[in-house]
Parts: sequence; structure tokens; C-alpha cells
Amino acid sequence: MVKRVRLHIKGRVQGVGFRPFIYNLATKERLAGFVLNDPLGVSVELEGDSSRIKSFVKKLRDNLPPPLNIEAIEKRPITAKNETVFSIRKSVRGRDKFVFIAPDLALCRRCLDELLNRNDRRFSYPFINCTHCGPRYSVIFDIPYDRAKTTMKEFTMCKQCKTEYSDFRSRRFHAQPSACFTCGPQVSLLEGKEKFSSRGKGCLESAKLVFMGAAERIGQGGILAVKGIGGYHLCCDAKNKETVSLLRRRKKRPSKPFALMVDAIETINDICYINNKEREVLTGPARPIVLLKIKRRLSWMDNVAPGQKFLGAMLCYTPVHHLLFSHIKKRQNKPILVMTSANLKDNPLVKDERELAKIRKYADAFLVNNRKIFVRCDDSVTRVYKNKEYVLRKARGYVPDFFEFKTDKSILACGAELKAAFSIVKNGFLITSQYLGDLKSYANYRFFIKTLEHFKEVFHFEPDLVAYDSHPAYLSSQYALSLKGKKKIAVQHHHAHAASCMLENGLNEKVIAVVFDGIGFGPDRAVWGGEFFICDRKEFKRAGFFDYFAMIGKDKAVKEPRRVAFYILHELYRERVKDADMEFMRNFSKEEIVLFKMMIKNKSFVYTSSVGRLFDAVASLLNIRHYNTYEGEAAVNLEMAALDKQEKEKKAYAFDIVNKNKRYRIKWQPLFGEIIDDVLRKKEKGRIAFKFHYTLSAIIKEMCQLLRRDCGLNKVVFSGGVFQNWLLLNMAAKEVRKAGFDLYTHSRFPPNDGCISLGQAAGADAVCKG
Ligand code: ZN
Ligand code: ZN
Ligand code: FE
Repeated sequence: MVKRVRLHIKGRVQGVGFRPFIYNLATKERLAGFVLNDPLGVSVELEGDSSRIKSFVKKLRDNLPPPLNIEAIEKRPITAKNETVFSIRKSVRGRDKFVFIAPDLALCRRCLDELLNRNDRRFSYPFINCTHCGPRYSVIFDIPYDRAKTTMKEFTMCKQCKTEYSDFRSRRFHAQPSACFTCGPQVSLLEGKEKFSSRGKGCLESAKLVFMGAAERIGQGGILAVKGIGGYHLCCDAKNKETVSLLRRRKKRPSKPFALMVDAIETINDICYINNKEREVLTGPARPIVLLKIKRRLSWMDNVAPGQKFLGAMLCYTPVHHLLFSHIKKRQNKPILVMTSANLKDNPLVKDERELAKIRKYADAFLVNNRKIFVRCDDSVTRVYKNKEYVLRKARGYVPDFFEFKTDKSILACGAELKAAFSIVKNGFLITSQYLGDLKSYANYRFFIKTLEHFKEVFHFEPDLVAYDSHPAYLSSQYALSLKGKKKIAVQHHHAHAASCMLENGLNEKVIAVVFDGIGFGPDRAVWGGEFFICDRKEFKRAGFFDYFAMIGKDKAVKEPRRVAFYILHELYRERVKDADMEFMRNFSKEEIVLFKMMIKNKSFVYTSSVGRLFDAVASLLNIRHYNTYEGEAAVNLEMAALDKQEKEKKAYAFDIVNKNKRYRIKWQPLFGEIIDDVLRKKEKGRIAFKFHYTLSAIIKEMCQLLRRDCGLNKVVFSGGVFQNWLLLNMAAKEVRKAGFDLYTHSRFPPNDGCISLGQAAGADAVCKG
């Protein structure tokens, strides 16, 4: 029976070769109709035998090549038009020209085959790509998405490339960045004053020399700067201890783990556990850094990721990486490279040759190329939790991500400050920027402004509502407040955390929110971060929190966990504090003890309920870490110590929950009293650390049960930077689920401040809806 249907498809379906895919599928099924891009996705009309239409839809779902991704297909029958051919029609633009831009995509399998095939005309060409792969977001400076609006506009396609580009049967049909040795960008190697480029005739040979030279530097223990998709990396042989130490010294990065890159998943499989989902994420088109559990501890790992139980690893994602590896492999088996963003401290990563001076001291040689990067973008970081992704840093390959958000407003949500990212909401979609770093540095703040201007440009966006953090000193808040003539709504930081997790999980009702975080501004001017809310998207009630303790010297305590530990010990021991027979006390000079005591007396501190700071305090009391060289270092060290000593028989430290003015306060005093007793008894650090993690899980469960009893709610959301802690996330989730709650966690957006803009948008929108 001949029928006609209209399909509307949402997902990653624009700028990635979806229309030719549909065309080929429809032609194979002998269906008539058309396909076109519309403002909300892709529309398809199909006319033909109903069984063939069915088979089309099935194949569409089952045979979809990456990076295509379908989120929803709406299907409805319409009247037949007696059409006989299938065609690709011109895009329909919405009134205000909303266009989907694809994220940057890793080199696909078929392009990799061509790259390595001596008989292919793009054999060894470092910029090979097709409609399914290659740069997108990072090279597009305006819309509509075609070559003239990308940084590829400087390169005029040769005749052969042009033919492929115009042929719908070709894999490069409308592949805007498509190029070859004859017409496209080229690589060069810079070393000292020398520059060696692959240009003109014989560029295949000269490109080979460039890569040979680069591989040689790495083989000799050098540090190489390599231009990737979103910016430069610094790379070196991960197994060469001296070089990795040198890189740490040059970057002034004593202990923060480095990410690794390999060219084959087997190489990672030798050293880390990889389950099916992790394999899928590692090899997927986004190619993020995936945190994987170490299987075999090797001595070189002590330099790459000191004290870690997990390694961050990624697979090659550009042809440049693949070619570099193929040359390194001529000298060594299964190479593993450190791949770390090339940036000055508190600066965005370096993206073009003009900026190379900034990192000249870091690298011995530079593998550069003349394809410009328009938008810089760091690597994304993710892991797998319960067979789903648990994104920790959303950037390359994940941005832009079009998240459905039903509202008629255009919203700008400015985000937080430390792990900055903003979101825009338009035409029923929320789009979050890439990770932008700490805005307190001027360079990062400019990166924020530039990226926002870029979003306004390409998405034709102008907000009518601006949402921001209620912390008045955040630069993102100050930016929001500086905008004239817009409706503005402040959203409390931890409410934004909760609302973002709700939005992500499609919850629009009252829930119990557990927000364990580093720092965030509370309306009472204390630093919040150990919060239990009863909330919906619009408003929250602070139903419980950790009894306040103090950050001596305010912000300084974030960098110095020992200050919080000192306060806690002082609260429990008072005048006896200087006599406490603890290794911990040896950290303080006599003068410091006097000074800190005075600061407590004079209230030179800020009160806090932050669980992040409680982690710091325990790490310091256990003499594990007293100063953070990177955000969350002490907490990570404590988690690693605990992972070493996981116990089956779980026992919690004593804790006390008191109900004061209809709010629960979690008393940390009994908990720390017992921890300090254990320290004095010289109990193993790992065991104390583990018991502390378990106690927090027990507190979460207990609090959720109390709140369920009071309010009858059964849905729980987890958010906040502390939920990056793997052990706590797993233990707390288990406890809460065991107690019969429906638990919702982050997945597509990070639990840390990378999710704040999302929650601000949800919160402000809900306030407007009333
Ligand atoms: Zn490809
Ligand atoms: Zn060409
Ligand atoms: Fe936060």
C-alpha cells in the first residue's frame, strides 16, 4: 500500500552528513519524497510502500553512522502526492535563523583508512576529513555553515575536491572543511629559528619529514607543542620520567595529573580497565578524555598521575595525531604520550601561531599548521557511571549541545566563576558554552566575553532575560549586572546546582536536593556547600545543612586546607590545641598558632557549611595534604587513600542531626572528635579516610529519610563539585537507592560549577512563569 509520512527528526543531524545519508537510504528503499534542514532539526517526507517506510525507519535507527545521533523522531501520516523521486531540498530558515552547529568530530574510520592507504590521493594528508568528521565548532565564525564562513575560506578547493563536494554520492558531499595536499592547509615544524614546512610540489614528502622530525624530538625526550582542533597541546613521551618532570617544572604544575593520548585502545587496555560503555565513549566521535581505573600500576605513572587510581586517557582524534603516532611507532612499541593543554597558568589554551611566544619556554619544538582555529576549546573530560556518561568537563566534541528546554523566552545564564561556562536559551533549546576556566584571570574573562559574543553572532541571540549567580563579586554576575535594559534574576548557587540536575533529568516538581560543593554564596553571607534543599526549579527551602565552621583568613583557606583543620581542632580542643600530639600540628610554627588563634578570636574568618572544606580538613588532619596546588587536590588525595582501604564491613563515625528552628543541622563535632581520636591512636589513614566517606553517605541517607518523613518526597537529586568524588558518589547513591528513593544524578552536564548556568536558566525561567 502506498503511503506518505512526514518525519521530524531531532538530534545531531545538521552539518554532519545527515541529508546525504537519508537520501541514500530513501533511494535504496525506492521511496520518493524529500529531506531538508529546518529550524528545529531535519524534516523528511517519504512516499511509497508502507513496508518500505517501516524498513526505512528501522534502518535509520539501526544503521546510523557516528557522529549522527537521533534524539527523537516524530512521525505522522499525510496525504500522498504521487511523487516519484527523492530529493534534497533547500533548507527552511526560521524567522530568526537558528542554526545547529555540530561539535568538532574525531577522524572517522573511513578517513583513517584513506589516510593510511598509499594508493589514496589523501595518503598522509594531515587535514583529511569528510561529512562525518573533522573540525566544525572550532572553525565556524558565522552562519550559514558553509566554507566561506569557516576558517577554511582561505583555501580554494581544487578541481578534484570540488567534484567530491558537489556529488551527493561522495562521502565529501558538502563537507565544508574538505581539502587535500593540492589545495588545503599544510604542516610545519618550528624549532629555534628554523622552520620546515610542507608546501607546494612534493608536499607529501615534506610533510613526512615534518612528522619524522616531530617524532624524533619526542623520541629524544623533548617536549613538543602540537596544534590540534581546539588549540595547542604540549606532549611528550609519558614513560620518560625526566621529560615528564621537566614538563611539570616548566608548567609549574607539581602534581595535577596529566592526560594521556594513545593511538590504539589496546594500549590503554594494557594498563586500565575498560568496560563496553567506556570503550564506546573512548572511540566515539567526541573523543573525550575518559577517566579509567588503573589495572597495572607502572612506575612512570607516579610522574604522570601521582597517587591516582584513575588515569585520564583519550584516543587520537585528528589526522595530525595519527600521523605523529605512526612516526613515533617506527621507534617504539605502543607509544603513550602525555597530552596537556598548552596554556599559561590561568590563561586559556593557546590557539594560534601569534600566541606561540607565550609557550615558547614550555616546548622544544612546535608542530604547527596554517588552518586557523576560530574558537578555542579544551579537551572534554568524562567517565562512565552506571553505564551512562558522567561528564566532568564539557568542551571539545560536546559543544555545542542542543538541549531541549521548553520556554518562549531568550535567556542568557552567566554561570559561576571557577569552572565558568554560560548558557543561552533560544527557540526551545539550551546551548551551553565550552568550559572557560577561572574568570578571575583577565585572560579567561576575555575568553568568556569573546565566546559569548560569538554565540550571539552565530545563534542570532539577544537575551530578554539574564540569569546570574547571587554572588555579587563573581565576574559573571558583574557582567550580568552591567547589561542594560534586560530583566535580571539572581539564582542562589546551590539552588542552581539542584535546578540543573532537575532540568537535566526532566524533573519539574518538588524534590529533595543534596548539594555538596566547594564554595557558593549563601544569602546569610556564609559560604554554603553542605546543603539539603526541598526545592523545585523556582524556589528552595534550606531544610538542612552542616553546622557552620570557619575558613580562617576566608579565601586563603581554600588554598590551605590546614586552616580549616586548625579551626576544627581548636573548636574541639580549645586551649589544649597546641598540646595535641598530632603530626598535623607540626605544620604550624609557634607564631602561626598564636596568629590563627587570634584570627579565630577576632572572627577573621567566614562561616561555612561546605563539604568540600570538610574533605580538606580531614586530609590535613591526616597529614595527607595541607596546601592545594590545584582545586580539590586535598579531597582527591583523601579519596585515593580511602579507595586503598575499602572495607566490606562498613561503619560510620558518630554524627548528630539536630532540629533547630525547623531546620536540620548536621553536627560535625562528634564526627571530627572520633576522627581525631583515630588519628591519635595512629589508625591507618586509608581506613579513616574510608570511614569518613562512608559517614557522609550515611548522613545523606539519614537526612533524605528525615525529609521524606517530613515532606513525603521520594525523589532525590545529587549535585555539586563534591560529587566528582567517585567513592562518595557510588556509596551515597547505593545507600539512597537502598532506602527506596528515586535518585537522579548528572550525566550530560558536569556536577561541578560547569552546570551552574543550566540551573540559572531553569531557575529564572521558573520564576518568570510564576
Ligand atoms: Zn571522515
Ligand atoms: Zn583539493
Ligand atoms: Fe558549585
